[in-house]
Amino acid sequence: MDLAVQRPKKRLFLGMLLLAMLVLAALFGGIWKISYLGLENIHEGLAQWFGVLLAASLLFGILVVVNMALAVKGLPYLSVLQKQTYQMIRFLFPMAVRIGGLLGIRRRKLEGSFIAVSNLLFARRGIRVPADRLLVITPHCLQLADCPHKITRDPKNCKRCGRCNIADLVNLSEEMGFHFLVATGGTLARQMVRETRPKAVLAVACERDLMSGIQDVYPLPAVGVLNMRPNGPCYNTKVDMDEVRKALEAVILPKDGK
Ligand code: SF4
Repeated sequence: MDLAVQRPKKRLFLGMLLLAMLVLAALFGGIWKISYLGLENIHEGLAQWFGVLLAASLLFGILVVVNMALAVKGLPYLSVLQKQTYQMIRFLFPMAVRIGGLLGIRRRKLEGSFIAVSNLLFARRGIRVPADRLLVITPHCLQLADCPHKITRDPKNCKRCGRCNIADLVNLSEEMGFHFLVATGGTLARQMVRETRPKAVLAVACERDLMSGIQDVYPLPAVGVLNMRPNGPCYNTKVDMDEVRKALEAVILPKDGK
């Protein structure tokens, strides 16, 4: 049972990605060795070219992970590698989860660490958008399960009784001017992104949904706020409104544009 959001360490995710790269290097080495004679029989020098190709892919992968680490550390980094960074994460993450499992690291912890890294990369890009170009998406489980009001599609149907955080978010959206939507799943969330055409997204969700959601909406920049699950997953969840307000203030451009 989750009583509070744990603050994951960014280096955990980066460390596991590097470990996954090492495993991949060993795998590539094995593939190269096994295929060497066969490739040389097909054409002389083919095995060398294949080796160069594998080594180049590995070096590029290491460059992407190291670049991410530099960004996280606040050091100069190559911002042009953003697309490759997300592709690399998508490719290496399943392997990192398996290695983490062998070391006793839970998937959720790794996902939380990814969100911390991703939020930091978002902050380093210095992204700020007008309030009306920001979409805030929360999962349906943030609404109290016994509330009779239908708030998906139109959260303003909330009667603001204050028993759950939906009222806080509706009030905040009116105060700050951002789009606020409650999604029942990834498909609806993506549809909402298409309809509102935001320049950035702030999502409130669990580690798993934020991990996939942030990658799904790419190249749209997205910042994630973890929810709290005092009643177990996907049921009467909550969010720290101070954390949401802080994240919003960092993303939304002040009205005078400064
Ligand atoms: S705050 Fe809104 S959504 Fe939450 S229980 Fe009350 S009426 Fe329902």
